Amino acid sequence: MKVAKFGGSSLADAIHIKQVCDIIDQDSERHIIVVSAPGKRYSDDSKVTDLLINLAKERLAGTDYNPSLLAVFERFEIIANDLSISEAMDSIKKKISTVASAPYTDEIKYLDSVKAMGEDCSAVILAAYLNSIGRKAKYCNPKDCGLILEHDEVGKAIIIDESYENLAKLANEDALCIFPGFFGYNSKGEIITFSRGGSDITGSVLAGAVMATVYENWTDVDNVFAVNPSIVKNPFPITEITYDEMRELAYAGFSVLHEEALFPVYKRGIPVNIKNTNNPSAKGTTIVSKRTHYDSLVTGIAGEKGFCTVTINKYLMNRQVGFLLGLLTIFAQEGVSIEHIPSGIDSVTLIVRKKYFTPEKEQIIVSRIKSELSVESVHVERDLAIVMIVGQAMANSVGIMARAASALGNAGINLKIVNQGASEISLMFGVSEAYCSYAVKALYKELFKL
Ligand code: ASP
Repeated sequence: MKVAKFGGSSLADAIHIKQVCDIIDQDSERHIIVVSAPGKRYSDDSKVTDLLINLAKERLAGTDYNPSLLAVFERFEIIANDLSISEAMDSIKKKISTVASAPYTDEIKYLDSVKAMGEDCSAVILAAYLNSIGRKAKYCNPKDCGLILEHDEVGKAIIIDESYENLAKLANEDALCIFPGFFGYNSKGEIITFSRGGSDITGSVLAGAVMATVYENWTDVDNVFAVNPSIVKNPFPITEITYDEMRELAYAGFSVLHEEALFPVYKRGIPVNIKNTNNPSAKGTTIVSKRTHYDSLVTGIAGEKGFCTVTINKYLMNRQVGFLLGLLTIFAQEGVSIEHIPSGIDSVTLIVRKKYFTPEKEQIIVSRIKSELSVESVHVERDLAIVMIVGQAMANSVGIMARAASALGNAGINLKIVNQGASEISLMFGVSEAYCSYAVKALYKELFKL
């Protein structure tokens, strides 16, 4: 049994929805279909989720949200008319207006409930259309199916384990299960959404629950590429990649799947196949636990801006028992998570993300380090980009670090930090933000021998 998740571009209009139905028809193993909200039809179009967010914000601000409500109706109306299922619009309009006008006490929960309507109505439409063309399909409500979520201490939606048992029952359904992505319910029956792009997580959870043979993630590109195509034209395609490689690349900015989507399938060893709805015969990229082949020594190169370094110097640091513990405790108490810790004999650098290490936090943390740990100096740099070279095959080969470092040196890029991951599947460089794309390009040119 396969779980297939279709992204917003695959549900953006009737033509794409018909393509989705053809894909479903081509393989009887595709039993559970997870859908996103309709995405953009052209580059400056709006995603339905963004229209819904506008609507909810207008209501919360006490302004007139009717034009936004009509814009959402119009998107679904065009799709329903083009699929000749306009009768589905009554229930869609009712669902959205009821949620939009519902009384609320908690603004975040209200926003979540409105945001979820994009996926919910997308699933209603797809199920209605499949039935209208003679397929047996069932719209699956996440509440009835038992997808239970709750918020953790930082407000992130997490899945309650019991959900897996509940959702496993979908494997016994006769009809095709059409399941809306992106949201579930808490134990009080209130809607909770994942963060943006979260339908990927729903698909992964369902694949895990029914122990699918594969989790198909249908999008609008033939492959994942070895490097961001907006930095390098026509980059090398990745046909196969491990979960670990994918995780490292995602960390440094690859935005193929939602960051949290890999875990449920990774834990159960279910492969993920990223495919193109507009070109279903392309093999796509498969994410696996063990590689079957290597097309290249390096699998991918990624770069991400938005990091800071905090370097602490203290004479005889290595002799003071508990120094690092004290340092890390300060960051923990101030709620700033630490990404990497390269260190020297009398110095240590903590790499943190700018979005958590705000200027206000910087002030508090630096003054606490100075007063509580009596250090020689603390130096903060706020413009670091992390560039990663990732590849399982690198573990057994010699000289990649030398080639990478000289490529960056020849390009005139100063390396602020160099770190080889303990796993040996990645090399990490810290460079000034201004050089991020330039560094990715130079490394790609060297390591993919162009
Ligand atoms: N529709 C949501 C978003 O635009 C979730 C998703 O598509 O995965 O972020």
